[in-house]
Amino acid sequence: MDFKLTEEQELIRKNMREFTEKHVDPIAVEIDETSRHPEELFKKLAEGGWMGIPVPVEYGGSGSDYLTHIVAVDELARSCASTGFTVSIHVGIACMLVLLFGTEDQKKKFLAPMARGEKLGAFVLTEPGAGTDVMAATTTAVKDGNDYVLNGTKTFTSNGPTGDTYFVFAWTDKAAGRKGMSAFIVPRGTPGMEVGTHFKKMGLRSSQTSEMVFRNCRIPQENLLGKEGAGLLMAMTGFDHGRTGIAAQSTGILQAALDESIRYSKERVQFGQPISRQQAIAWMIADMATDLQAARFLTYHAAWMKDQGKPFSKEASMAKLFTSEAAMRHTIKAVQIHGGYGYVKGAKVERLMRDAKITEIYEGTSEAQRMVISGNVLR
Ligand SMILES: Cc1cc2nc3c(=O)[nH]c(=O)nc-3n(C[C@H](O)[C@H](O)[C@H](O)COP(=O)(O)OP(=O)(O)OC[C@H]3O[C@@H](n4cnc5c(N)ncnc54)[C@H](O)[C@@H]3O)c2cc1C
Repeated sequence: MDFKLTEEQELIRKNMREFTEKHVDPIAVEIDETSRHPEELFKKLAEGGWMGIPVPVEYGGSGSDYLTHIVAVDELARSCASTGFTVSIHVGIACMLVLLFGTEDQKKKFLAPMARGEKLGAFVLTEPGAGTDVMAATTTAVKDGNDYVLNGTKTFTSNGPTGDTYFVFAWTDKAAGRKGMSAFIVPRGTPGMEVGTHFKKMGLRSSQTSEMVFRNCRIPQENLLGKEGAGLLMAMTGFDHGRTGIAAQSTGILQAALDESIRYSKERVQFGQPISRQQAIAWMIADMATDLQAARFLTYHAAWMKDQGKPFSKEASMAKLFTSEAAMRHTIKAVQIHGGYGYVKGAKVERLMRDAKITEIYEGTSEAQRMVISGNVLR
């Protein structure tokens, strides 16, 4: 067994650290407070080649492996969980879906601009009545000549208001059950697709989340991704990649909670000594550091399995489940370590705690991850 990252992966971490110190840390508080999508930051991420790390060079990416992308998301989320997530869903789900299932033309037309960071991807699956229960979806795609006509309402679409390339899941044959859903690539500006309600959120505020409404939205047949009826399978493959990304995002949040807790507990003096000398505080930090190590190993292992070409659904779910719950648990502790100062605006731990909560919910709740894991180990 080799627990070391390659030189390239270590370099990516270092470069991303320098990038976040220069470009992300200075705006992280502002984009959270104003719920702003930082267009200028995404231009810089694109210039730096961060928007398509695991995509082959011929399709606009850097041609690295998936683990390298995961290392970058971990480091990015340490500075800003929203930005880390946006990169994660764009690369891990949107880019990977076209890379794995797209035709040559789709890769040239849709993947290359996304991997170069010129276009932002969005994954459009959840509906008001269909969250964990994906099969309860009602959006339909009816074949009409050489087109499909989409009708329905999707919700909680990340990058909904800011995206360019939407991956939309709809029934082409509801009666066929799990083989009846298909996936479509819908470019921004397609008549019949509109951004609906734009949600205000507890955390992850600079990531934009909205409804997406489809009214007689006509999609040419060449925008069908993969085979008709393979939508659900592709969505689940997307989740394997995306969940590994959320695990990296949670690991980054956890790392930031530890960094802040160590720094503050050494500075804050009560009863004549730094609070880090109190065993109650030191043990919270010990537990945080231990869970961080476990979180990173689980996450990087899931990405390594993907890079080995092995099935990694179970590993991705385990990594997401553990890291997201650890991030939530320990960001609460990090606020506790900061006392009243952790509860007021401006303390990073306050933002970390709000951002951590969503990692237990999206791309499958913790309960959904337990369903995947138990389904694998009990079979
Ligand atoms: C900020 C944000 C961003 C998101 N981004 C995207 C996106 O980009 N694309 C997208 O398609 N979706 C996105 N989602 C949707 C997200 O994936 C869903 O919210 C999530 O899957 C849960 O669905 P739900 O909210 O409908 O909850 P429900 O499915 O209604 O679940 C409610 C509760 O019941 C539990 N539950 C449900 N069924 C079971 C069961 N069988 N056994 C045990 N417990 C169960 C759940 O775990 C949860 O605790 C996003 C959501 C948010 C909030």
